[in-house]
Amino acid sequence: MVEKKSILFYSALLAFCFINNFALSAWNNNLKCKFCNDYIEGRYVTFKNNAYHEKCYKDHIQLRCFHCKNTISGEYNIDNGKNYHRLCFRNFILQKCDVCFKPIDDLYIEDQYGNTYHNYHRSTMPTCESCNRIISSSITNGGIKINKKRNICNLCRKYTVNDKSKVNTIYVDVRDELISLGIGNIPEQIPIHLVESKGKLQKLSKIFLPIGLQGYTKYEYQKIGKKKINENYTIYILSHLHEINFRAVLAHELLHVYLYKNDIHLKKSLVEGFCNLGSEHIYKSYAESKIARFRLDAMAKDDDPDYGKGYRIMSLELETNGWRKLLKKLEKY
Ligand SMILES: [Zn+2]
Ligand SMILES: [Zn+2]
Ligand SMILES: [Zn+2]
Ligand SMILES: [Zn+2]
Ligand SMILES: [Zn+2]
Repeated sequence: MVEKKSILFYSALLAFCFINNFALSAWNNNLKCKFCNDYIEGRYVTFKNNAYHEKCYKDHIQLRCFHCKNTISGEYNIDNGKNYHRLCFRNFILQKCDVCFKPIDDLYIEDQYGNTYHNYHRSTMPTCESCNRIISSSITNGGIKINKKRNICNLCRKYTVNDKSKVNTIYVDVRDELISLGIGNIPEQIPIHLVESKGKLQKLSKIFLPIGLQGYTKYEYQKIGKKKINENYTIYILSHLHEINFRAVLAHELLHVYLYKNDIHLKKSLVEGFCNLGSEHIYKSYAESKIARFRLDAMAKDDDPDYGKGYRIMSLELETNGWRKLLKKLEKY
C-alpha cells in the first residue's frame, strides 16, 4: 500500500490583511518618516503605528512576493520565512500532482517511487497490482486491464510472465536456487498452469484470502497400504505476474512440494509460514527492487495467522538457525 502523508494545506495560513492608512499631515507637526527620518508633508502611510513617505513605504517597507518580486497587499502566504502572493504560491511554490499536474493543496499520497498525487485519484483510477502505482499516462505510461479486478501498468507489463518457455526457464532457476539452500528432492518438472483470475484460483484451492491467492499446489497420490504411489503435483499460478512476484510465488509453491515430498507434517499454522520463506528468499535477492521491498513489507505486516504470523515465526527461526539447521528441525514442529 501507499503511504498516506499528512494534510498539506497552504503551508502557511497567515491570511493576514494589512491596511495602508493614508493620512494627510498638517504643517509643522514634525511628523518624520520612520524609514528615511525626514519630515513628512502631505499624504503618507501608516504601518504598524509608524509613518512613512509613500515612496519610502512602497520601496522599502511594503512586503514583496519572493517569487514575482512585486509588492503584496492583502492576503499572502508565508513559506520557509518567505512571503508570496496567494496565486504565486499556489502556481509556483506548491507541489504539483504527478497525475493531473494541478497544485496539491489537500490530502495527498506519496508512493514508494517518489510520485506525489491527490488522494482522490485513488478512488477513480486503477492501481497496478505489481508496483501499486496509479496507472496514468504520466506516471506509468498507461496500462492494461486483465479482468475486473486486475490491472497492470505498462512499466511492469514488460516483465510479466505469460508464456510457457519463460515459465520453464524460471522453474529451472528457482529450483536450482532452492537446491543451493539444501531444499532437495523437488521434481525436475512439475506442470504449471497460469490462471487469469484470483476467483478461479480460490475455487481450485478452496483457500480464501482477503487479498487473493497468487498460487496453489495440488497434490494427489494413491496409497498401497501405507506406501504412497503415483504422487502427482500440479502448480497453479496467477497469470501476468511481474517476474519477481512469479519467482516468489513459485518458490513458495515449491516449498509445499518439498513438504509433501519429504513427508514433513508441520503444524497447520506453520505450513504457509514456512513456504513464505521461499518468497522471502526470492524477494531478498532483489535488494534493489521496490516491488520486492513492497512485498516484504506487506509480509511483515500481514496479520493472517498463517501467511503473516506463521511466517514471522518461521522467519525468526531461519534467522537464528540458517537453512540447513532449520530444515533438520522441521520434523519436530
Ligand atoms: Zn521617507
Ligand atoms: Zn507574486
Ligand atoms: Zn491530481
Ligand atoms: Zn506497475
Ligand atoms: Zn501456500
